[in-house]
Amino acid sequence: MEMRIGGSRIELVLGDITQQDTDAIVNAANLSLLGGGGVDGAIHRAGGPQILAECRRIGGCAAGDARITTGGLLKARHVIHAVGPIYRDGRSGEPELLASAYQRSLELASRFKLRSVAFPAISTGAYGYPVREAAEIALRTIAAYLREHPEIELVRVVLFGPRAYEIHADALRKLQGAA
Ligand code: ADP
Repeated sequence: MEMRIGGSRIELVLGDITQQDTDAIVNAANLSLLGGGGVDGAIHRAGGPQILAECRRIGGCAAGDARITTGGLLKARHVIHAVGPIYRDGRSGEPELLASAYQRSLELASRFKLRSVAFPAISTGAYGYPVREAAEIALRTIAAYLREHPEIELVRVVLFGPRAYEIHADALRKLQGAA
């Protein structure tokens, strides 16, 4: 499913982030940027050692922020490493940090003149963010950014299973209704 915002669109797909042919894919990274499980492990496995070598040189990234590297062997030319918050109780700054991880990733995409970016559902795996709450924050932040930044033509949100897809589709329909 998709939502149009001016000449740009947000697209939801069921799939694997590592296989996306967008200009950049976003990694659900951790503070060290040195790799981990989930999306992070899959990206480093598929993209090869060049990505980790650049991450080592960068030396880490705060929660709510993002860094950019090569895409190595991936179809995507770049990987944007975004660090989402670890979910505690929803009242410890997590919503702001999650929104910021999306915002900072999109700002990097603009700065590098990228026109298409694919995101996974940051923080909803090992970091424990409830998917519905995370979906609302993610889609709201992306939509607000696209309204101000028509240079980004496509933001694809790649969901790893039908449950995550349905929850995001609900959240996107709500956002469309509110627009
Ligand atoms: P975090 O540590 O930020 O929670 P995870 O990588 O553990 O990051 O999970 C983030 C989300 O990405 C989860 O919903 C998980 O199901 C999903 N996911 C895991 N592997 C992939 C993949 N290859 N492509 C897209 N999404 C994935």
